[in-house]
Amino acid sequence: MQFNDLQEQYKNLLPEIDKAVLKVMKSGHFIMGNEVRELEDRLAAYTGRKYCITCANGTEALRLALAVYDIKAGDAVFVPTFTFYASAEVIVQAGAEPVFVDIDPRTFNISAESLKGAVERIKRENRWNPRAIIAVDLFGLPADYCELSRIAEEYNLLLIEDGAQGFGGSVDGKRACSFGDISTTSFFPAKPLGCYGDGGAIFTDEEKVRDMLESLKVHGKGNDKYDNVRIGYNSRLDTIQAAVLLVKLDAFEKYEMERRQQVADWYRSGLEGIVGIPHIPKGYVSSYAQYSILMKDREQRDVLQGELQENGVPNMIYYKKSMHQQTAFRNNMSSYWGFPEAERIAEIVLSLPMHPYLKKSEVEEVCSIIKRIEE
Ligand SMILES: *Cc1c(COP(=O)(O)O)cnc(C)c1O
Repeated sequence: MQFNDLQEQYKNLLPEIDKAVLKVMKSGHFIMGNEVRELEDRLAAYTGRKYCITCANGTEALRLALAVYDIKAGDAVFVPTFTFYASAEVIVQAGAEPVFVDIDPRTFNISAESLKGAVERIKRENRWNPRAIIAVDLFGLPADYCELSRIAEEYNLLLIEDGAQGFGGSVDGKRACSFGDISTTSFFPAKPLGCYGDGGAIFTDEEKVRDMLESLKVHGKGNDKYDNVRIGYNSRLDTIQAAVLLVKLDAFEKYEMERRQQVADWYRSGLEGIVGIPHIPKGYVSSYAQYSILMKDREQRDVLQGELQENGVPNMIYYKKSMHQQTAFRNNMSSYWGFPEAERIAEIVLSLPMHPYLKKSEVEEVCSIIKRIEE
């Protein structure tokens, strides 16, 4: 059993992917080939955003999003403490101050209530300028953008969607990577839509923002690459990766997202009432970047991990350490605030195998191991 079966996926898409990659190699257009623009159009249409700008990876996508809105020293950016490191790392790279926020333990996503508290606190301290929220669609479930938009408006904050894990999810039919002022995603191989290396994208509805991003990602180019009007980055998506993604996006739209729902459904029917299973609020669809369950306590999770290991079932703990517990953030002013929900969840969360090629018998095997622990 695989945690995320990229080999099986490749086997299924084999003739198309090989053909697409070979075509790029024969064309010689390795940088900004036609496939890149084609992919951007397809991704914009899929998410429902006006524009998609591909880039080097999901971290760069966030960096570019902060750069295009001129987030800088003196600014405070609010981010959930329970996330992948990149969501917070980029804030420091921009020279701004990350302010960590606790999560809603049911969805694993940023808590609107804790966010309000954090913004009020930063305003009172009057040392930083509250500028932006980076909301994360953790494990594939979109954050509560209805509530977050209200808070962003109330405090005049920019709302950024980190949809690295959320691609494919939706809220009332509105797709992930279309929420807030600007959205980002990652095509790291293990994400819901992954390429064969690093890749990422930014989504916006503003033409001006799109134009600026096109410039920023190519050394701050003006009319061409050798006319440089601002300090930028080198952050393009390779044509070969775009070609791979075009094939994979077809499969993602045609059946992979559906199968992810099917796998989650098998897990749900096997585990409901036995352990904590992902809570999907009404109207929400998760892309299940991870299928994460909650055990009673740390000891029970240790036992389960041992049993799964013994039976050859791969599993992971996302995330053992929240941002406020990372060595790199030991001097962050918000690291001392205390984040009881994030800390509690980190002790009991466990991610199970999840991918579109998982078989029902495999899911049942995992469920029966978990049931044995509970008895
Ligand atoms: C993976 C991930 C990123 C970074 O994406 P890369 O392509 O690996 O740079 C950012 N945020 C979250 C929540 C992620 O899971």
